[in-house]
Amino acid sequence: MKGSRRSGVAARLATALLMSVLASQARAADLVIDQVTVVSPQLNAPQPKQNVLIRDGRIVAVSAKPVSAAADAVRIDGRGKFLTPGLMDSHVHVGDVPGLPYGAADPVSNSLREAYTRQQPRSYLYYGVTQLLDLASLPEGIAAFEAQPQRPDLFRCGPAVVLDGYPSVFVDPSVRYRLLPDYIYEPANAATHPLPKGADAAQHTPEVIIDRIAASGARCVKIFIEDGFGGASDWPLMSKETLQRVRAATRKHGLLLLAHANAIDMQRIAVETQVDVLAHGLWNWNEYSTPQGVPPAIAAHLRDVHAKKIGYQPTLRVIAGLADLFREDTLKDPAYAKVVPAPLLQWYATPAGQWFKELSRQEMGGVPDMKAMHNYMVASSYGMRATKYLHDLGHPLLLGSDTPSAPTFGSQPGYDTYREMRMMAQSGIALPAIFRAATLNNVRQFGLDKDYGTVEAGKVANLLLLTANPLETMRAWTSIDRIILRGTVIKRESLAAPRE
Ligand SMILES: [Zn+2]
Repeated sequence: MKGSRRSGVAARLATALLMSVLASQARAADLVIDQVTVVSPQLNAPQPKQNVLIRDGRIVAVSAKPVSAAADAVRIDGRGKFLTPGLMDSHVHVGDVPGLPYGAADPVSNSLREAYTRQQPRSYLYYGVTQLLDLASLPEGIAAFEAQPQRPDLFRCGPAVVLDGYPSVFVDPSVRYRLLPDYIYEPANAATHPLPKGADAAQHTPEVIIDRIAASGARCVKIFIEDGFGGASDWPLMSKETLQRVRAATRKHGLLLLAHANAIDMQRIAVETQVDVLAHGLWNWNEYSTPQGVPPAIAAHLRDVHAKKIGYQPTLRVIAGLADLFREDTLKDPAYAKVVPAPLLQWYATPAGQWFKELSRQEMGGVPDMKAMHNYMVASSYGMRATKYLHDLGHPLLLGSDTPSAPTFGSQPGYDTYREMRMMAQSGIALPAIFRAATLNNVRQFGLDKDYGTVEAGKVANLLLLTANPLETMRAWTSIDRIILRGTVIKRESLAAPRE
């Protein structure tokens, strides 16, 4: 009897406890945005005077009529403001710190990495980026990002690299096989790139590596079709047969296949491999150089990309972010103080922090700053012209900044997503097309349209409240009033990097 009475009390206590837990969970107050102009890519035109109800992190209603919210709802006066979906950047690397050498683990690098890790997700949010797709980070980098309290929703691809190929060419072989153990062995390269001692070829086939990436929970696979930068053109590639096996294995798992390729010959290989997305724009076509527009061979390739409906990330900031190494005012840009942690910004200005700038200069034969910038700006103009040509064909573009594309301090989280959009505008892309690239095109391409990309009932409440209309001015993206992340309202300035 005693026992059962005690257990009866325990049961009642447990029930009471459960009820209070449920009540406290339900306590997340409703959020209502009154009388706001909704700007959303599925609409033909902005819709003024809408009332938006958000509950438990999702949009519940968008209506011209009053919405029925709980009495204690948080209310935002939306008059004079514009409500958009949060932006998606579909080409980032959250595990890499701009300006730090790959794999650096000395005490200074470690403390800079820590400061960066804390600020990085806040910097993306500061520029309205609420969804990210990481194309190739090590698990530690992903885990460090996911451990931050305020962060965009993160999705990822897994990298399938060929033995000794890009990007592992930048890492010392003894470190390489530890950092990137999941390489694909290419028998066609056996003479120049033999299997490392002790490795088992059966563990490095396309099928085994793609199985492993699929099991890791990635939603896509990124391959690298790159035979060298600048003077180099001897980096190993996958053979046609291996590429076909990679394609078949990704299809078997229902994974999208993305390709790093930015030169015309490399992009041709990507198209022949039937990749789903080109993870870079086309800016490397010196052999066809022309002062304006795109030459016939480039135009034919871009028409093929359009006809085959291959996703295209212009990543215009890749080359611009290298040019910025040589721009004397880069580190004095007021936006840097908002997105770069103070100790990292100070380090960039030191001789140690300029290592990649000097390395890049050496690779160009020791040229002065202005000549280096000129070299990059020529390549950059090719990329911009190719993007405009594709846009004029009616091809939907994908917003991807490739932050950071290289160990350059010229590429910074959030700010580069914004600057990518600005460069698209400078290329002649219409603002509504840029808006779609940042929202609906990205979420559709990567299978996230059930949850993101529009302001509609049922979607995750990752939203931006702007003080200008983004279909009319790029200034809208630098005058964000509030960021709404899964229904939680964040004031923009609270996301800026702390100044010490
Ligand atoms: Zn990249």
